[in-house]
Amino acid sequence: MSFRGKIVFISGASSGIGAATARAFAAEGARLLLAARRAAKLAEVASEALASGAESVHSIDLDVRDHRAVQNAIDTLPEEWAAIDILVNNAGLSRGLDKLYMGRIEDWEEMIDTNVKGLLYVTRSVVPGMVVRGRGHVINLGSTAGELTYPNGAVYCASKAAERSINDGLRQDLLGTPVRVTTVDPGMVETEFSMVRFHGDKERAAKVYKGVKPLTPEDVADVIVWAAGRPAHVNIARVLLTPVQQA
Ligand code: NDP
Repeated sequence: MSFRGKIVFISGASSGIGAATARAFAAEGARLLLAARRAAKLAEVASEALASGAESVHSIDLDVRDHRAVQNAIDTLPEEWAAIDILVNNAGLSRGLDKLYMGRIEDWEEMIDTNVKGLLYVTRSVVPGMVVRGRGHVINLGSTAGELTYPNGAVYCASKAAERSINDGLRQDLLGTPVRVTTVDPGMVETEFSMVRFHGDKERAAKVYKGVKPLTPEDVADVIVWAAGRPAHVNIARVLLTPVQQA
């Protein structure tokens, strides 16, 4: 499938997997709608994407936790950007990593508001247009954490287990339409994720990858573009990819 002229909306496009996905679709000549909160980082990704071959780029300063802002961002897209073909629901984060009974409530709220409610808000705003236009593909970022709960990670794991249910439920609810739904579930990927998780503590962040050569964001972006590029009658329901050494 050619992505030339296709509109790809990527949430959390300012770093890591989202930014790599922007570059990967750019190399295929797609048109990119890039959303995140850090406008300066988003501008850098937009320039890179244009240099890599994107047909055009439109950036949106967006906090996915704010449902009114999400709906407004989609409703007020310039006409030439409104017909989104591919939605990559990537914005997400982990915070803390504490025993559940000692966790910080603000951390829990941030994870659930972003990974679960933000995912729902963006999906609710974008998918109706796909159904009306009779084409579309939603690609959600899950995680191995969605099926395997690890110590000190209950709330992040729960948020990714919720992603799985939302992904599968959306797919069921779209049966009878041509809109496809895929979850891409990576294991460890080296991005800003661990620094965000440990509130900037470099030492704790570095320990995460001990004994494991992590995936790169480009490894995950490759899979996303591959899934999106299957023929229209093929739905890749789920891709699980892990570093070779990860249990
Ligand atoms: P990064 O921290 O590099 O990227 C996270 C992205 O999400 C950033 O662009 C950030 O942008 C955006 N984001 C966070 N909160 C919000 C918000 N409220 N509104 C809008 N955008 C937001 O991490 P990754 O690239 O690793 O993570 C991307 C996805 O992959 C996440 O869903 C994560 O759970 C998942 N994942 C990551 C793994 C890993 O090991 N790294 C493994 C498995 C899954 P900004 O701060 O500018 O808003």
